[in-house]
Amino acid sequence: MSKLIIVSNRLPVTVDKQEEDFVYQKSLGGLATGLKSYHEKADSLWIGWPGIVDNDLKEQDKENIREKLESEYGCLPVYFSAEEKENYYDGFCNNTLWPLFHYFANKVEFNTNTWEAYKQVNEKFFNMVDEVMEENDQVWVHDYQLMLLPRLIREKYPQARIGFFLHIPFPSNELFRLMIWREEILEGVLGSDLVGFHTFDYVRHFLSSTRRLLGLDNHLNTLHYGERNIRVDAFPMGIDYEKFNREYTDTEYLEEMKVIRDSKGEMKLILSVDRLDYTKGIPDRLKAFDAFLQLYPEYVGKVRFILIVAPSREKVDSYEKLKRDIEELVGNINGKYSTVNWVPVWFYFKPFSQKSLIAFYRNADVLLVTPLRDGMNLVAKEYAASRRDHEGMIVISETAGAASELGESIRVNPRDMAAIARGLYKALEIPREEKHVINQIIHQRLRRYSVDIWASDFLTSLQNLENTPAFKKGVVNIDQHEETLINEYQQANKSMILLDYDGTLVGFTSIPDQAKPDPSLKKLLSDLGNESQNTLAIVSGRDRQTLEKWLGDLPLHLVASHGLWVKKQGNDWKMTMVLEDQWKPAVNEVLQLYSDRMAGSFIEEKDYSVALHYRKCDPDLVGGKLSEIKDALLTMVQSMSLGVLEGNKVLEVKDVRVNKGMAVTNLMKEGSYDFILAAGDDTTDEDLFAALPSEAHTIKVGFGNTRAAYYVNDWKAMRSLLRKLEGSNGDAGDDK
Ligand code: UDP
Repeated sequence: MSKLIIVSNRLPVTVDKQEEDFVYQKSLGGLATGLKSYHEKADSLWIGWPGIVDNDLKEQDKENIREKLESEYGCLPVYFSAEEKENYYDGFCNNTLWPLFHYFANKVEFNTNTWEAYKQVNEKFFNMVDEVMEENDQVWVHDYQLMLLPRLIREKYPQARIGFFLHIPFPSNELFRLMIWREEILEGVLGSDLVGFHTFDYVRHFLSSTRRLLGLDNHLNTLHYGERNIRVDAFPMGIDYEKFNREYTDTEYLEEMKVIRDSKGEMKLILSVDRLDYTKGIPDRLKAFDAFLQLYPEYVGKVRFILIVAPSREKVDSYEKLKRDIEELVGNINGKYSTVNWVPVWFYFKPFSQKSLIAFYRNADVLLVTPLRDGMNLVAKEYAASRRDHEGMIVISETAGAASELGESIRVNPRDMAAIARGLYKALEIPREEKHVINQIIHQRLRRYSVDIWASDFLTSLQNLENTPAFKKGVVNIDQHEETLINEYQQANKSMILLDYDGTLVGFTSIPDQAKPDPSLKKLLSDLGNESQNTLAIVSGRDRQTLEKWLGDLPLHLVASHGLWVKKQGNDWKMTMVLEDQWKPAVNEVLQLYSDRMAGSFIEEKDYSVALHYRKCDPDLVGGKLSEIKDALLTMVQSMSLGVLEGNKVLEVKDVRVNKGMAVTNLMKEGSYDFILAAGDDTTDEDLFAALPSEAHTIKVGFGNTRAAYYVNDWKAMRSLLRKLEGSNGDAGDDK
């Protein structure tokens, strides 16, 4: 039976040392609440840091804590030292990832030591996962502290179901690409089967980064990565609606409500609640409140701003400074407007329990929540849910994740003081009926997509993912067929091996001329070609001059320009068809026009074809342009026997009568082969597969729809297969 393993930086239980005793406190965060029902299932485990550093613990303490956490809370601790905490958590997590992902590029610090610590601590988390993991378990990894973990798990447990959820924003690629270790971080996350974000914007940004930085295409939010499909989707985290919406009748709560209500009197209350953080936009918000009092003097003496800031990361210098800035701004406003009976801003710098917050929420006429960036912002949802009477109104910045779900609220640009001031005025003046209609819609949404539904939605999606490779069913990895293939090859009297070149035997380079064969490839081809039973042919779209230069000295046939030219071993080049080329200048001109405006593209003119290469172009630019180019060419090519062929990041105009299948059919006529193997990676190779008899072993290199019977992951796997084939005859040389 498989189990669920939840992994997050912090455990839902915090261990604290008080005098000689250890105190265990349950954490009440949204994550702990959301996963409660799953976590309480007997077979679920939660791995994370219990909030206490190694240095304060003896070995025996660690063991005792582990035992208690495991037996009473279903948790397993990952310990780290004060130094690791400083470098991994305060350092890489909070001085690098946090500011970068929240668009504070000027605050980002890149430091190799903290990056090393980040890697090391992710490994520590992995070691704990590894201790308890079984092959078919489901793992749900949380947040920016553990972005390398999914890959570590995947490498050891290829069959595991792994989900990853990012609780903070994923920035646009323009920001993300500033990260020095960006590829490692993306590849770390891509160990997952399902990657979740709060909003669709973050999904878009992530997909854009994986495309631009790793060259991964996606189809309907599914990434094709190696042999796997990875689903990327938005799951906006909800709140425990019932908890915030419930009526409370205990004395403590009623007393708290009374105190706030009495102090409020006839006053309108504006409330904001945040952790101390520069992403929350607190100074700008105070300035906006000042602007509000100036713009709407009728509210002077009639409104109070309750600013609750929960201390956080105070030891970090920039947070200490932020606190001082806030105090100064509060002082300025109060100094400027206060009267004997009225102080405009009440500032609390301390944490409140959620129950106390509910009392504040229920008395506040307006919630002012203006983060400069926020992954979600749960406070906004909690406030809306708490106002059972539908009398609340939210002014929210458009850069908070929650803004996409609270579209009926008043949305503002958090840097625009005048807009916030106008928003506040609108919120205070909004007619009651209108306010009720807005609240009704918001309540319905929050009730429906509560935090436990969020968790179950994510986990159900993870379970239901179809774990099939990224192409049509029925095409199987050649690994499963390798033995048969080798046997048949050994028993054959005459073998024909037909290999495409680029993408099949070598990787792609941005300049085609750089893809020349390395010595190990030449040796492999030479060994294969020298086997007396073999007829080996390279069947390529490249021109004959290049093939001749690179491979002309090897014991093989060459087929160039997609089949137009054939050079049998020891003979001269022969044209397989008489073609015309007068059309080339006109097509060249059209392609050149587009190429001029597609930075990174270039044109290659061959004997009887013209190709536009766009591997280095911005993928978004190409997406929009390709159909336009094809349209423009269509009218020209229709009148001749030309076609537009789409290869791997290349568009080629050539005579449709020429194709790899036609050339190979001619080659095959010259003998009778009892073993045929053909391999290729792009659409031009499909013609080759189609032309072969059904008993041929056809292999697609990479993924995508194909008529081939088998696939291999990439050109490296293809080379290794050929090496095995060649070595199976017993006289193999090693190419290493
Ligand atoms: N919170 C609290 N006491 C406080 C301030 C905040 O319990 O004094 C809680 C609040 O109810 C909310 C969470 O802290 O659930 C803050 O979450 P949010 O998404 O708004 O911001 P984050 O701190 O995660 O950036």
